[in-house]
Amino acid sequence: ARRHYVEPVVQHDLGSMEYACSHCGALHWLREKLSDSPKRSPRFRMCCKLGEVCIPLLQRPPEFLHRLFTSMDPQAKEFRENISQYNSALAFTSVGVSIDDTVNQRGRGPPIFRIHGELKHWSGTLLPREGVAPSYAQLYILDPHTALAYRMQRNENLSHQTMEALQTLLRTVNPYSHIYQHAYEVLRHYPDAQEFSISLRVMPGQDRRRYNLPTADEVAAIVPGDGIQAVDRRDIILSLRGGEARQAGGLQRISDGHAAYAPLHYVLLFPQGQSGWH
Ligand SMILES: [Zn+2]
Repeated sequence: ARRHYVEPVVQHDLGSMEYACSHCGALHWLREKLSDSPKRSPRFRMCCKLGEVCIPLLQRPPEFLHRLFTSMDPQAKEFRENISQYNSALAFTSVGVSIDDTVNQRGRGPPIFRIHGELKHWSGTLLPREGVAPSYAQLYILDPHTALAYRMQRNENLSHQTMEALQTLLRTVNPYSHIYQHAYEVLRHYPDAQEFSISLRVMPGQDRRRYNLPTADEVAAIVPGDGIQAVDRRDIILSLRGGEARQAGGLQRISDGHAAYAPLHYVLLFPQGQSGWH
């Protein structure tokens, strides 16, 4: 009897990814080189368009955070093991995705994180709904002691000492912490605060590629609104409890074109509120 023909398995080896772009230092496989460049001094376009695109290096984080990122001491190791949990506990915005779990049902292999559609970042109201514990940006408006208690209540497995130090750090160096507190102070003094909102808008003149420390005034302007008038769809609307027409359930989706999209969520990567690449 004849056997079914099985295509023999051929190993395809690209070699090592060890060829550095002479402009930006990105590592490549040799096959990625421009066809008209010699093997001995390969040139690459896909990383930086032959040096045309120049991205500044990430700013060095504050000393305490730098130690947590790099040190091998037990506190730093514990931090890195749980870094996404620490980040979520300290973020101003939440992230929502539809997670597709069907790929994980076979019970073997490493877990896969597959999502349907896009990643969405959500901004909530400055005050929680009645009977609901405060979270995200709402925690920056509370006094530090109370905020820390809420953060630890939700994250009992994390280090109290590390959480407290990170919270103190962000309340000091992160401009959005001051912006949210200021917005709260302004809204609180409207006679009927339910009716009012404030827009958080990145200053148009700001050079988004600049990596100096931004101050709160440089990062964003807060623009009073009546909660009804049309606003730029890229603005982030801050209100005490949320205008019903616009914010279903008090949550507003943040445009991924907003310069604060990345720093409001990834607070440990952008501790000083540096604008994202948009
Ligand atoms: Zn390059």
